[in-house]
Amino acid sequence: MKNCTLCGKEFDEAADRSLYAEAGEWLAGEVWQDAGELCPLCLENRAKLVMMYGHEINS
Ligand SMILES: [Zn+2]
Repeated sequence: MKNCTLCGKEFDEAADRSLYAEAGEWLAGEVWQDAGELCPLCLENRAKLVMMYGHEINS
């Protein structure tokens, strides 16, 4: 188990992820360099935010 660096919640890195969480995981590695540090929920929220507001990142 790990603790999420964003919300502090404990999470299981090996747990199944949703599509959003996978997208968030990719972003964590490519954009924020904190892959593996966030819980699936924070990854999902981040992916959703990026899809809504993050067009400048897709360059
Ligand atoms: Zn979290």
